[in-house]
Amino acid sequence: MARGDHVDLAGFMDGVRRRNPGQPEFVQAVQEVAEDIYDFFESHEEYHAEQILRRIAEPDRVVSFRVCWEDDRGNIRVQRGWRVQNNNAIGPYKGGLRFHPSVTESVLKFLAFEQTFKNALTGLPMGGAKGGANFNPRGKSDREVMRFCQSFMTELYRHVGADVDVPAGDIGVGAREIGYMFGQYKRITNQFTGVLTGKGLEFGGSLIRTEATGYGAVYFLENMLAHRGQGIAGLVCTISGSGNVATHAAEKLVQLGAKPVTLSDSDGFIHVPGGFTQEQIDWVKDLKTVRRGRIAEFAEAFPAASYHEGERPWGVPCDVAIPCATQNELDEDDAKRLVANGCIAVVEGANMPTTLGATHYLKASRVLFAPGKAANAGGVAVSGLEMAQNSARISWSEEQLQQLLKDIMKGIHDRCVKWGTEADGHVDYVKGANIAGFKKVADAMLAYGVV
Ligand code: NDP
Repeated sequence: MARGDHVDLAGFMDGVRRRNPGQPEFVQAVQEVAEDIYDFFESHEEYHAEQILRRIAEPDRVVSFRVCWEDDRGNIRVQRGWRVQNNNAIGPYKGGLRFHPSVTESVLKFLAFEQTFKNALTGLPMGGAKGGANFNPRGKSDREVMRFCQSFMTELYRHVGADVDVPAGDIGVGAREIGYMFGQYKRITNQFTGVLTGKGLEFGGSLIRTEATGYGAVYFLENMLAHRGQGIAGLVCTISGSGNVATHAAEKLVQLGAKPVTLSDSDGFIHVPGGFTQEQIDWVKDLKTVRRGRIAEFAEAFPAASYHEGERPWGVPCDVAIPCATQNELDEDDAKRLVANGCIAVVEGANMPTTLGATHYLKASRVLFAPGKAANAGGVAVSGLEMAQNSARISWSEEQLQQLLKDIMKGIHDRCVKWGTEADGHVDYVKGANIAGFKKVADAMLAYGVV
């Protein structure tokens, strides 16, 4: 397109759809951002003339590779691995690795695109990336997971590095997998560098990294409520998921006097009307990270809980809903039920858990809506702090890191308020996050010229 030619939003999205056939998640993520920033983008001729939005929506590169490994019965398994490096305008690529059968190139492109804005919002120097494989860790032995991780890293190591691209964990990739992959990287390269974050404390990990995403999401909620003059204590919160983000969000809610009442996995959800205790949350953490069992077992162990097979928790009346499982797990019907039941806030602990229809409905209903790129940025923020500690070869104290996490979440909240406040004082956090994240990356890209 010639300099100065303007296409409207629909025309821009037609182009994105044409260039990315069969990639609905990626198109959805681009649309969500483009809808919010288009007016801002159009009012800045320099962004338009330099085709900044179109350049951000085209990953710097997508690497796809074969991952072969041998299972415990001696069968050869063949999986596909990817690393999507979306944009490194403001720092080395950074973003998690996901091991789940639902992983596709489209899912990783959407996550890498989102990560670009999220990382910019934190205020730390990190570009956006995401990676993973269609490997299902469920039911695999430790040795099988180890062989898979080693094989995965045997290709990935060529594309990453402490100043190049620093992956972290995500769904299906926790401390165990990061340990196996870091061990393999070190073995191949003979270098002990901060190439991965989420490492064990014994080998360069940071305190509070494990807790950071869930805690950060609750700090973000606290900031949103405080901005409206409300407190968090006593609020009934429904949570989906029972992994890293979900359990730590529940834990922070309990610490702040709120009442988390549900957790779930891909088979169903559990409901504890009186709210989870810390002991029960610890029980779930052990179930999911050590025993690797199903959430249904909770209801057998704790009679106060009910189990709802094949259902999601959004029909349970609540003040706040915090989806922490996966993308598109809260649809428009769920959003309508939440609003009808008096829900005042939805906080995305997961990445894009809310469908576009549900997002539109919640925004129109004036529910406080915290998008994942703002609310769950605490994890990558502490990953950024892990990189800083690795570069300086020091470890900061828990108190220092807790304070930094709180400050970073407040900074993200305030950036959203700056760019998302409407004439009547209501804050459109989605718009605020999208514009603030976009602006930082776009301004850096302008400085580089056409590259
Ligand atoms: P975990 O693997 O620790 O937990 C994922 C949870 O979600 C599990 O309870 C899992 O259930 C459930 N789940 C996964 N897929 C589905 C599905 N298709 N339907 C229903 N439930 C599902 O992952 P995390 O807690 O780390 O990540 C959760 C979300 O948060 C993801 O969207 C991730 O991208 C996002 N996120 C994570 C960050 C982190 O620091 N970990 C940082 C920022 C965002 P089951 O056991 O049945 O698979």
